[in-house]
Amino acid sequence: MEEPAFFLKEGREKSLLRRHPWVFSGAILRTTGKIVPGSEVAIRNAKGEFLARGAASPTSQIAARVWTFEESENIDRAFFRNRFEKAFQLRRAVFGGKLPDAWRLVNAESDGLPGLIVDLYRNFAVCQISSAGAEHWREQIAETILQYADGIYERSDVDSRRKEGLALRTGPLAGAELPEKIEFEENGILFRADPRQGHKTGFYLDQRMSRKAVMEAASGANEVLNCFSYTGGFGLAAAKGGAGHVLNVDSSAPALAQAEENAELNGIPRDRFETREADVFQFLRQCRDSLRSFDLIILDPPKFAETAAQAERAARAYKDINLLAMKLLRPGGKLFTFSCSGAMKDELFGKVVDSAACDAKADFRITGFLGQGPDHPVSAAFPEGRYLKGITGIRL
Ligand code: SAH
Repeated sequence: MEEPAFFLKEGREKSLLRRHPWVFSGAILRTTGKIVPGSEVAIRNAKGEFLARGAASPTSQIAARVWTFEESENIDRAFFRNRFEKAFQLRRAVFGGKLPDAWRLVNAESDGLPGLIVDLYRNFAVCQISSAGAEHWREQIAETILQYADGIYERSDVDSRRKEGLALRTGPLAGAELPEKIEFEENGILFRADPRQGHKTGFYLDQRMSRKAVMEAASGANEVLNCFSYTGGFGLAAAKGGAGHVLNVDSSAPALAQAEENAELNGIPRDRFETREADVFQFLRQCRDSLRSFDLIILDPPKFAETAAQAERAARAYKDINLLAMKLLRPGGKLFTFSCSGAMKDELFGKVVDSAACDAKADFRITGFLGQGPDHPVSAAFPEGRYLKGITGIRL
């Protein structure tokens, strides 16, 4: 039988030679063999020389995602075990041997496993499969995850699955059944999360380092405003760091209920930790109009831009909240502002913050830059994996 293969147009092999793991449909010159969604396809240059072996996604613009650049490497159980073990060793290295309670074991393309995310919450794994290739190997992947966890819950409910021709799916995948809520510690703070209903796999694990930075910055802050608080991650960090009062604003009532439960879990009294169900854009305006001010403001909004084309409109939304926040900062007040839109590049985000300070007539000093934690590594061959960025500063 003829080998399933994509032969690329001349010159279109360049990104693969740099080990970028995506093959765009427009780069394909011709196809041989039977291409089955999710199953193996060889990727060859126009002359027929081997470039990589990947999983086909014939319905997607990304027609194949690379499993390996080594011709001799087979895709089988051992392959997955190896990739997982590499990912695990990387985390051990970056965490100095002491793994956190909740962390990301597999970060998709950046761990050589396109379309697969595996987060661990103590002994439970929550995974997300978003590519036809990872779907094809679902059973072997589950078997591998069980080397690291007692039970797996699947949260394959991301829209990007549709582009791969896959239906959304959630539910127990293998092993022990996940308890209703999982409890874990981060930076000395206890959290409960609900991987069945919560955002992502239940918690924004990518902000671990930034929450620690907020904890350190909060000492001496009388009033903290935590915008887009979700289940209170930054707010609890601020309270634990010594903040007098934290106001958590989010549009999701269940997220805020969880934030309150988390505060209670940590013995933080209600009069120091308040929640408010509101639209942040409106709430910041109300604060401005009523001349409220804060010593520390956190802005951690959802993704405003999905694609590069949306970056400009997103920039206006980022500008809006950052400008308002600058105005609400007391002298000496600190700002932690984030963007998790990969389409929003560092430089543009920096410009947004600069111009927000300028328009607010704030003498604002940037004091640092933050990003996703080390358990969300970015492959040097896959810059798309870098999405989270933060800027910290002080209004003089
Ligand atoms: N900082 C959080 C994660 C924030 S995720 C953490 O560390 O865990 C973004 C949050 O913004 C979500 O909880 C979502 O409910 C909320 N959100 C989205 N749009 C909003 C809006 N316009 N006003 C208020 N909250 C909003």
